[in-house]
Amino acid sequence: MKYDVVIIGGGHAGTEAASASARSGARTALVTHSFATIGMMSCNPAIGGLGKGHLVREIDALDGIMGRAADMAGIQFRLLNRRKGPAVRGPRTQADRKLYSSAVQRFVKDQPDLDVVEGDVGDLRFRDGVVCGVVLTDGREIDCGAAVLTTGTFLRGLIHIGDVRIAAGRVGEGPSLGLSKTLELFGFKLGRLKTGTPARLDGRTINWNRLESQSADEVPSFFSLMTDTAVNRQVDCGITRTTLASHKVIRDNLHRSALYSGAIEGVGPRYCPSIEDKIVKFGDRDGHQIFLEPEGLDDDTIYPNGMSTSLPEDVQTEFYKTIPGLEQAVMLKPGYAIEYDHVDPRELLPTLESRRLPGLFMAGQINGTTGYEEAAAQGLLAGLNAARRAAGSAMVEFSRTDSYIGVMVDDLTSKGVTEPYRMFTSRAEFRLSLRADNADQRLTPRAIELGIVSVERRSRLEKQLASLDQARVLLNALQLTPQEASKYDLHINHDGIRRSAYELLSHSGIDFGRLARIWPQMNEIDGKIAELIEIEAQYSVYLDRQRADIVTIRREEGLSIPDFVDFSVVSGLSNELRQKLLTRKPRSIAEAQRIDGMTPAALAIMIMELRRLENFGRSVA
Ligand code: FAD
Repeated sequence: MKYDVVIIGGGHAGTEAASASARSGARTALVTHSFATIGMMSCNPAIGGLGKGHLVREIDALDGIMGRAADMAGIQFRLLNRRKGPAVRGPRTQADRKLYSSAVQRFVKDQPDLDVVEGDVGDLRFRDGVVCGVVLTDGREIDCGAAVLTTGTFLRGLIHIGDVRIAAGRVGEGPSLGLSKTLELFGFKLGRLKTGTPARLDGRTINWNRLESQSADEVPSFFSLMTDTAVNRQVDCGITRTTLASHKVIRDNLHRSALYSGAIEGVGPRYCPSIEDKIVKFGDRDGHQIFLEPEGLDDDTIYPNGMSTSLPEDVQTEFYKTIPGLEQAVMLKPGYAIEYDHVDPRELLPTLESRRLPGLFMAGQINGTTGYEEAAAQGLLAGLNAARRAAGSAMVEFSRTDSYIGVMVDDLTSKGVTEPYRMFTSRAEFRLSLRADNADQRLTPRAIELGIVSVERRSRLEKQLASLDQARVLLNALQLTPQEASKYDLHINHDGIRRSAYELLSHSGIDFGRLARIWPQMNEIDGKIAELIEIEAQYSVYLDRQRADIVTIRREEGLSIPDFVDFSVVSGLSNELRQKLLTRKPRSIAEAQRIDGMTPAALAIMIMELRRLENFGRSVA
């Protein structure tokens, strides 16, 4: 068999990689253990969330699969952080597992130039140091111009349930052993990480009457530009908490947890800790929240979000009895932890191609990340570049200023990982401009240039951009003086300056609805466009300032930070950033830029301080 590109693994990274490669025009083979597990969610039945929702909107803007599949499978759409600014709001949906995987499978099946080959890849082949094929463990061989490794948690995967250990990539699926050896042989630096999943409960045995519930938003926030309406019934989820009695059961059995008995050597995700971790680290709390999330519309299985564990099955049964509403709950499957090999992502270029072995790309959990969304976003970039490598075209990179994908890839390839990496909005220093709502405007034009966008999406985007332009023209034309404004109870500076409706939207307490009562013609603007223009206008003042800061930062990136500079006394920096500057001690503005939570405004303040000290030094000399 011969293909331009071979993708190894049909998880979240692999399916996006395969689709992006085929959309780029490369004849692509997706080699994975089983077609039936394509699109499978190994852990929580949900897509999106804080930071992660931004990634899904970006994947969609690049015409990837995840956003559309999540919209088709969504059973509880919620916009997280609704009370905070639009830049940090995160679209999320609980997803029906079966609907999600069947949607992904349909996209893969319907994609021209893409074949699925069921099998287990055991080795890679190289010619003159460049990857030229893969070898399956049943002896079949596939020649290719480039390959993408997306094997998730399968590389030397080892499951722990208390003291029970099972070599596996996921429950019920064998590990991948050969590829780890190949990678080691070529000198790749491998590390060991771990993640975990909670038990699954039978929803029919939960006492829902005792529990608080959480419902979907009345107006769903979709992931895809291509989605107009929710296709599924929306469901509630329940909320309960652990009790002091649950904590006692866990404390009494800590020595039996794989994590605390020393059986697990891999590092786990700090932001998604196991329940035993939470009890040990934050034991003084009287309870930890648990969301009881339905796994599907025609499925009684419940996913208790927040309860991942590596404790033995009997201890898990025991602690669920101590949780309100779950006293009689039947456990369908115990939770477990899994350890696996990952490759040091500093082995990769920002294109996700290996520095060591040209033609070999890597994406997803293998690069030390955790989460479906992080995996899918990397997959898209790796698949796109693998296709371009095979065709001899120029490679594509994203930057920290244009996307969360750019932030993630830069973090991974420049800093590496010491724990499973997940996305947060605080990782993006340009988060005011990298919003979930403007992902299409930021990225689809580039994707059109790269030739990976459908005709339908292109025409939808063009329509959206034209409507936005029209709305901007109208809102800039509608103007009033401060005196006229006060007649409508709008409080603005009495400076005699006329302000447009667009400018007024950046004032606190003035929203689109209020202005539409003054100028009824604004009601003719479509609701979605009105929402986009409102956010854009709200941010325009900050964005002008951010743009000016970006120009300064670009100019001053090389500016070095002498040891004696003490940012803890510089006003305008948050305490959190001061602390980070103190511990990380960046030696230049470029290094400081990579600190989590850094913002252009903070960098501008640092640059000002460095220049002030420089001038002071000069004047003293
Ligand atoms: P996967 O989705 O794992 O896909 C890997 C694919 O590669 C599979 O289809 C497999 O069959 C195939 N494959 C592997 N080896 C080979 C081979 N040699 N030949 C052919 N095919 C191969 N994420 C969170 O965000 N939060 C969590 O709480 C969380 N908990 C998790 C708990 C568990 C137990 C597991 C297993 C994962 C958890 N994750 C969690 C991680 C999440 O599932 C992954 O981040 C995501 O699925 C990674 O996507 P991927 O494409 O890299 O790999």
